[in-house]
Amino acid sequence: MRARPLPQAGLIEGEGQRAWEVFLQRRSQLTDRMEMETCNGCDACGLRCMQGFTITQAEWEEIQAYLATQPADTVARIQNQQKTVPWVGAEDSGATVTYCQFRDMEKKNCSIYPVRPTICRIFGHTWWLPCPIGAVKHVPEGAETVWENYREFERLTIEEWAQKTGENK
Ligand code: SF4
Repeated sequence: MRARPLPQAGLIEGEGQRAWEVFLQRRSQLTDRMEMETCNGCDACGLRCMQGFTITQAEWEEIQAYLATQPADTVARIQNQQKTVPWVGAEDSGATVTYCQFRDMEKKNCSIYPVRPTICRIFGHTWWLPCPIGAVKHVPEGAETVWENYREFERLTIEEWAQKTGENK
């Protein structure tokens, strides 16, 4: 039996778009209940901003639209940063890690924070992706349901979306 095609979310119209809008409402209802004040000024999660996670087409397009509103020199500065660096604490081993292309390595923050993907919004605020320094004491219920809903959409890595859409981002 063929697998049911995953709904896409983005430029497509109709059912896929409506399903994405419903998902965004559910996600907001979850994130609105998160203990975000604890995260003010903290970048402990940022050290987990590794390349290779997947996002939906709608998230990819939202990021592209956001980048188009940002100063070109800022976008280029972050794009040109070295994202593969020695593994902190294991420098002698030669092991490296590659950060998300949207992490600002100089300012140590997310350069697309207002449009960050779903995984970035729930990191630190669910039991399976807990705050790495244990500062967030309470996580809202219902994250599993929202995540299951999210998983119904087609997702690719940022690099795969860039290749698929011809964006050199
Ligand atoms: S999009 Fe932002 S928050 Fe998400 S992994 Fe990249 S730098 Fe981190």
